[in-house]
Amino acid sequence: MRNRGSRLDPISEYRSAQQALRVLFQPFTAEHCPTCRTPCCRKPARIQPLDLILLETLISPNPVPPGAVERAAGEWLESAAAAADPDLGPCEFLTGTGCRFPGDLRPLGCTAFICQPMRSRLSAESLDALIVGVGRVEAAHVRLAESLGLGGGAESA
Ligand code: SF4
Ligand code: SF4
Repeated sequence: MRNRGSRLDPISEYRSAQQALRVLFQPFTAEHCPTCRTPCCRKPARIQPLDLILLETLISPNPVPPGAVERAAGEWLESAAAAADPDLGPCEFLTGTGCRFPGDLRPLGCTAFICQPMRSRLSAESLDALIVGVGRVEAAHVRLAESLGLGGGAESA
């Protein structure tokens, strides 16, 4: 699905940018996440309303119900308020086989998160590549939000 010219439409651009970034993260996460002592998929997760709206719109057979945006925003605010509690348990989207979000539609805050183990173990070159990839995902997220009339831009973790 493309717009005029060769540019991807906003949702395809966003999913494509997420896929490209996951390829960069994958070698590190495959090696280190299974034994990580400070796993990051904990509550409150970095999930924003738009992440949930995209999930419902693109994955669920049902359209976004009335009030979904407001509810998602409320949940996100509650989640942010709960951030002071250090031990709220695993993220509710975490399953025995990983995240319940599709691999190319993970919440922006999760996708864009460069964790401390990465910062301390990856080479400067690898970290720079991740930072560039995160920037592309965030830029695509801004364009996507604007295209949906949900301007205000991306909020990274
Ligand atoms: S903090 Fe880093 S190494 Fe640990 S589980 Fe999360 S992504 Fe993997
Ligand atoms: S939404 Fe997925 S990636 Fe994000 S914290 Fe939860 S399980 Fe982890």
